[in-house]
Amino acid sequence: MRIVIVGGGLAAATAATELRDTGFEGEVAVFAAEPHEPYERPPLSKAVLMGDKEPASVYCHDRQWYADNDVDLHTGERVVAVDREARTITTDSGATTSYDALLLATGAQPRHLPDADAAGAVYLRTIDDSAQLKSRLNSGTRVIVIGGGWIGLEVTSAARTAGAEVTVIEMADLPLQGVLGDEIAAVFADLHREHDVDLRLGATITGFDRVGESVVVHTDGGDVEGDLLVVGIGVVPDSALAEEAGLDVDNGVLVDATLRTSDEHIWAVGDLASHDHPILGRLRVEHWDNAIEQAKVAAHNLAGGSETYDRAPYFFTDQYDLGMEYVGRAGRGDEVVTRGDVPGRVFQAYWLHDGLVSAAMQVNDWDSSGVIRAAVGKPFAG
Ligand code: FAD
Repeated sequence: MRIVIVGGGLAAATAATELRDTGFEGEVAVFAAEPHEPYERPPLSKAVLMGDKEPASVYCHDRQWYADNDVDLHTGERVVAVDREARTITTDSGATTSYDALLLATGAQPRHLPDADAAGAVYLRTIDDSAQLKSRLNSGTRVIVIGGGWIGLEVTSAARTAGAEVTVIEMADLPLQGVLGDEIAAVFADLHREHDVDLRLGATITGFDRVGESVVVHTDGGDVEGDLLVVGIGVVPDSALAEEAGLDVDNGVLVDATLRTSDEHIWAVGDLASHDHPILGRLRVEHWDNAIEQAKVAAHNLAGGSETYDRAPYFFTDQYDLGMEYVGRAGRGDEVVTRGDVPGRVFQAYWLHDGLVSAAMQVNDWDSSGVIRAAVGKPFAG
């Protein structure tokens, strides 16, 4: 049996690893568009961006691992077509290879702001992006960050730690407001203000200009001038290949509870997959843990299993001295209750929906990691 994996990220590497760890003896080939071995992205906006960890530390395995485990890894080779009838894929080098089962793990790409691109905006997705950004985060550099989401705030934290001046432009009234709600989002706003970040909230951008070496962002609240413009406004699933192959796609590749696509020989996982979650309904999760855990389940199913994926979404962030974990998925109207010291930033938060915990979070309270995970989906224990 020949399994082909398309994508060079964490999900692709995890699926190959799981296949070998669980004794799959058939052929495994991985095709990765980037010129690097598969790697993890979270450190690229945290320890690696701050210089606390070497870029080489992000690789899932060294090159030798693939040879030792008989995984045929092709880096720098983008898959450009899937022929579902013939069960083959073709790469940009013109090579065609067959599969019995195919895993799509092509991930996501940053959402672009075309007007910002014309003004020299940079984005953060790859190891190369991270290295370039790091080289520009210097003391006194004026950094403008568009988007007060996870990536924007982590870049802000790294930039402030490097001594850069940072202005964050966010259209919502608080950073992370959509995910965390007002009360908990305010914790992050306070955190960044305490680190002298200029938060421009509820802002509408009206245009961009370049003045000499500087970039100017025009907003309804005034102009912001800087040396470096970073845009972090979310990602879009990299689903063009799947779409061209005629798979069902709607904000990601549609997969059933077992992560199988509309083609019985093809599965999809990670940032790419819009999953029919048995408890939470359809959702596409753009998180590290999901890439790992979905890939493991898909590996079992590629090799003949029929496991359902029903894990709750999990996410973490590190900003300055704040570390946080979040499990589950809160709805917009869910009530939030906290336990611990919110102003001191050592606490737990629980989101409640119809008496059940829809999501739970810990901030700098690492002993409660297991507690918050166990709470999700159950009646709130108080
Ligand atoms: P990706 O990592 O996007 O990998 C997909 C790979 O497939 C890419 O290398 C791409 O080049 C390749 N590819 C695409 N098309 C093709 C093709 N046609 N042929 C061959 N290869 C192709 N999550 C957290 O939970 N916590 C965090 O703190 C966190 N921090 C993050 C920080 C940064 C800077 C970034 C960018 C992401 C962060 N994430 C975090 C999100 C997490 O990294 C993603 O959820 C995870 O990378 C998804 O893995 P994936 O394998 O599905 O996709």
